[in-house]
Amino acid sequence: MNKGNKTRNALSTISNFFVFFLLAAFVTTCCIMLFISALQGSLGREFTREEITLAAKITLVNVILISIVMAVIDYIRRKIMVERPTKIITEATEKIMSGDFSVRIADMPRSGAEGFDRIAEAVNRMADELSGVETLRTDFIANVSHEMKTPLAVMQNYGTLLQAPDLDDQKRMEYAKGITDASRRLSEMMTNILKLNRLENQQIFPEIKRFDLGEQLCESLLQFESVWEKKNIEIYTDIAENIEVEADSELLSLVWNNLFSNAFKFTNDGGSVSLRLSATEHHAIVEVKDTGCGMSAEVGAHIFEKFYQGDTSHSVQGNGLGLALVKRVIDIMRGEISVESAVGAGTTFKVKIRRS
Ligand code: ADP
Repeated sequence: MNKGNKTRNALSTISNFFVFFLLAAFVTTCCIMLFISALQGSLGREFTREEITLAAKITLVNVILISIVMAVIDYIRRKIMVERPTKIITEATEKIMSGDFSVRIADMPRSGAEGFDRIAEAVNRMADELSGVETLRTDFIANVSHEMKTPLAVMQNYGTLLQAPDLDDQKRMEYAKGITDASRRLSEMMTNILKLNRLENQQIFPEIKRFDLGEQLCESLLQFESVWEKKNIEIYTDIAENIEVEADSELLSLVWNNLFSNAFKFTNDGGSVSLRLSATEHHAIVEVKDTGCGMSAEVGAHIFEKFYQGDTSHSVQGNGLGLALVKRVIDIMRGEISVESAVGAGTTFKVKIRRS
């Protein structure tokens, strides 16, 4: 405690004592005056000057004693009820300020002042929130660094190989393509991170307009024509006509692109991908089904988390951000997304969005 605080505390103690003194003086004087006038009445005579002087002296001593007793009681009360909880709360918040989010106020003294319990609860909740945010932040940094390392290492390797003096044209093209692919993956990841960040920070305001959902789904699916032809994947569609929705078409196309991209990515040559659009009075329901590798219940429980990839060997390209983006968009649209899948049997994503 610094010198200024000490002086302030001393002044506050003196002023407290002075308040008690005045209070005790007033109460005791009133009592004694009442007592003297009652005594005069019952004795039937006036008190002499000496008797009144003696009574005044006794009153003064009483006042001083009573105010000292009251000041001491108040001091003890403050120590127990105010200073201890204040100290505990101050120490906890100072630890939080210095970055220790593990601190929790567990044994708040039973001060009787409910306010302190509530402050302690709020401090504990704040520490919970902050440590959650901190974990997300450190996980995020670790994930981004990890995901960046692979394409960067690939680029570095191909760059070194390209420096060989007697390289034939075919090899040179192959290495250059390796660098281009790796940098494209890096740039895709950065774009996804930025999109997710903007969606999470609510920097994107949905532009709601009415449009035909079936048309949008077909357009989105057609973008993958070269992929399904290359992998010889069969396409089945069952699209109800004239299903219009009021939504942000750009955001929704992000959803379909990711779902189709995954369906084609995780389906082996010769498999199939089906698209179904149906509607109820208030909702449009889109189902994207594939006959791909499927996923276990354990994987299914995490797929909407940022950077989560079911295949830890990373043999299939991706960065685990696609479905996190999808989920965020669906949440913004106040829709629902669910997944049904079994290992080896394929996967079905079902999206339900409000029509208006
Ligand atoms: P990425 O595809 O880039 O890895 P996503 O967020 O799109 O990231 O998907 C997360 C994980 O969900 C994938 O790594 C995969 O394990 C699983 N997954 C998503 N879609 C499918 C699918 N159609 N079939 C099987 N697994 C899937």
